[in-house]
Amino acid sequence: MDPIQLFVPTFRVDETLEEIRICLEKGWTGLGFKTVEFEEAWKTYTGLPYAHFLNSATGALHLAVILLKEQCGWMDGDEIITTPMTFVSTNHAILYEKLSPVFADVDETLCLDPASVQERITNKTRAVMYVGVGGNTGRLREIEKICRDNNLKLILDASHMSGTRWADTGKHVGNEADISIFSFQAVKNLPTGDSGMICVRDAELEVEARKWSWLGISKDTYARTASQGTYKWYYDVEHTGFKFNGNSIMGAIALVSLKYLEQDNAFRRQVCGWYDMLLKDTPQIQRIPMSPDCIPSRHLYQIAVDRRDEVMLALNQANIFPGVHYRDNTLYRMYAYAQETCPRSMEASDRIISLPLHLRLSYNQVEYICNNLKQIVSE
Ligand SMILES: *Cc1c(COP(=O)(O)O)cnc(C)c1O
Repeated sequence: MDPIQLFVPTFRVDETLEEIRICLEKGWTGLGFKTVEFEEAWKTYTGLPYAHFLNSATGALHLAVILLKEQCGWMDGDEIITTPMTFVSTNHAILYEKLSPVFADVDETLCLDPASVQERITNKTRAVMYVGVGGNTGRLREIEKICRDNNLKLILDASHMSGTRWADTGKHVGNEADISIFSFQAVKNLPTGDSGMICVRDAELEVEARKWSWLGISKDTYARTASQGTYKWYYDVEHTGFKFNGNSIMGAIALVSLKYLEQDNAFRRQVCGWYDMLLKDTPQIQRIPMSPDCIPSRHLYQIAVDRRDEVMLALNQANIFPGVHYRDNTLYRMYAYAQETCPRSMEASDRIISLPLHLRLSYNQVEYICNNLKQIVSE
């Protein structure tokens, strides 16, 4: 039997190659062309007003902090309340800009707990960084209100949330935050190789985002001084920006992946439904709940068990290779200053498992996984 992996990215190969071929034949693989086409497609799909395609979500998170720090005049050492239950990119982004990550605890959805966020607000708090773990909105609406009431910015790390919609309005998530970022890394719901998106809410930040993501080069100045389209070499450079821009090859792959996102997420929800049905009567297996507020993208199917590491090894013996999302970030040396401030996250960190979830899974494989799991936890 082939091993059953946590993630297996699926591409529509012929269709994707055709999009890439167009770039190669045109001789345009860099910034522009398919990146612009994909930005338009993403805005249409999500209904978000702005979208700027970047080379990763890590870059997008960093850029989000840069933009807000500049716009709001934040000082070094100002605080951003964030979660320990995430990929380290989320928290590194805060440190890249010399701000201070203050960790708040998570709730049963593994997303930030509003009560804990409220507790951590000080006079140096400037923003909240919220991660929709597994595509779940958790208590995002309460967090949004806390931010509004306390005059804090909200950054949404929606890396897992491509396709997550609000159950009541049917709208795609993203507009509740000042800046939302998405990941199109290979194992995410909308796979490319590496790329991401930053979605801001106001026009001014969109202009800044474009400058900062391309070495600080301002084409606006060029447009003013050479409105005829000549003198292309007369752009201005305003600040030490970064090389965060996406490219047309990734844009081409993304355009095809986006076409199938709804269908793919529906299949993910179906697989999660199989897991729910097969695991619901096993009290040793606790399923991480989805918020009823949303129709989630289902990037992950997470459970919590005792003796997690033993269970993982036993699953590996059965040729099943799940993952863990995530180890509490305060277990890493550089974030250890916050250890013991988030007990719920710390406890989950030792108990959670992400079961295999991808587009090639069959019902029989899910049944095989669940049968093994039920036997292992009852031993
Ligand atoms: C994948 C991921 C990132 C980073 O995405 P890249 O596109 O690989 O840079 C950030 N945050 C979370 C929660 C992620 O899962």
